[in-house]
Amino acid sequence: KPVVAIVGRPNVGKSTLFNRLAGERIAIVEDKPGITRDRIYSNSEWLNRSFHIIDTGGIEVGSDDEILLRIREQAELAMQEANVIIFLVDGEAGLTSTDQEVAEILFKSRKPVVLAVNKLDNPERLNNRFDFYELGLGDPVAISAGHGIGIGDLLEEVVKHFPPEEEEEYSPETVKFALIGRPNVGKSSLVNAILGEERVLVSEVAGTTRDAIDTPFQREGQDFVIIDTAGMRKRGKVYETTEKYSVLRALRAIERSDVAVLVINGEEGIIEQDKRIAGYALEEGKAMLIVVNKWDLVEKDDKTAHRFEQQIRKEFPFMAWAPVLFVSAQTKQRVPRIIELVLKVAENHAMRISTSTVNSVIEDAVMMTPPPTDKGRKLRINYATQVAVKPPSFAIFVNDPELMHFSYERFLENRIRDAFGFEGTPIRLFIRKKS
Ligand code: GDP
Repeated sequence: KPVVAIVGRPNVGKSTLFNRLAGERIAIVEDKPGITRDRIYSNSEWLNRSFHIIDTGGIEVGSDDEILLRIREQAELAMQEANVIIFLVDGEAGLTSTDQEVAEILFKSRKPVVLAVNKLDNPERLNNRFDFYELGLGDPVAISAGHGIGIGDLLEEVVKHFPPEEEEEYSPETVKFALIGRPNVGKSSLVNAILGEERVLVSEVAGTTRDAIDTPFQREGQDFVIIDTAGMRKRGKVYETTEKYSVLRALRAIERSDVAVLVINGEEGIIEQDKRIAGYALEEGKAMLIVVNKWDLVEKDDKTAHRFEQQIRKEFPFMAWAPVLFVSAQTKQRVPRIIELVLKVAENHAMRISTSTVNSVIEDAVMMTPPPTDKGRKLRINYATQVAVKPPSFAIFVNDPELMHFSYERFLENRIRDAFGFEGTPIRLFIRKKS
């Protein structure tokens, strides 16, 4: 997905615009407990193109020099990470020298810049936008982030600069996976350990987004691609000074993958950031497995793995379906097992169930445990069918979707899981009114 960044001096309304553009999260994710939100990026959509919008951070206090320095940093980050930059200025305050300096930096970047003049909710102020032609960044778009005016015009300009939609580079049978996790959990070491045992087809392919290294390999006739973002950090790119943007790169690797392998440090246990990273993969509907690395360093008895797994289940209640594996990149213990599990969960992620089979499972479930009655009205399930793969998604047609209780929906989801064994993949249910 393309990335859009908002740049501008303090108080021009960057956060207001960010919030205005930040799309609604998928409801199915909202009601899962334990997923932490993150303000670094948000998903957004306009005219059927979805994109990420990144928050380059608030710089709201400091001396003029400090502010200028921070805006410079902000602009540089935006220039590295974004496909399109929205340069936001204040139409009420008018053109300032800081705006001019920022414009110069942005101009040199040769990245597409869309100039937006904010706070033009008042017709008398509308003409103020012409002052900003002086910045040499083209036609200013008049907006009011606070009142939601001109946002469509702005996005129309932004979308024009998006790169053409990416084409799939690999065969549909190829299993694409990424190792995700905090720095230093051993992702690079695991990538090397995995590739050390596999027949690598091409040594290195720069990913389409150029922020990941793709390595295709084959195992027993099955094609795989490992999408590696961790290695990039080792190359000492400038932007690595800000670790938080590595999150964005991980996110894009997740998007391009079928399977996200969440790597946890066995020595340290689970922390908040692990959950956040897992949350991204979950939101994207990816197959997942949890790999506990550095298991060689952990002092163990016969219950240690069991206890660790219990802790994982407690900390990640929303992905009880993900298999857990204890490995060591150092000693290679169980490293080959990672690929076996990646393949297995990828198969489940792409599984198709016939409509008759889905219906007999739902019928049995309803017979065994009928839906609860709500104020005398009864939910009636007419029929169910699988509507998508990756992840497996089912539409359940009912007399009135309002009558579907959260807990009954969970019950049906569990019945579907029990019947088809969707280990390692999320599944989605859509409750629809029977037409
Ligand atoms: P990344 O940031 O997640 O890619 O982590 P690295 O692969 O760079 O590993 C971080 C550090 O942990 C390095 O010093 C590795 O040598 C070490 N390391 C990685 N995996 C293991 C392991 O399984 N056992 C031990 N003992 N050390 C490991």
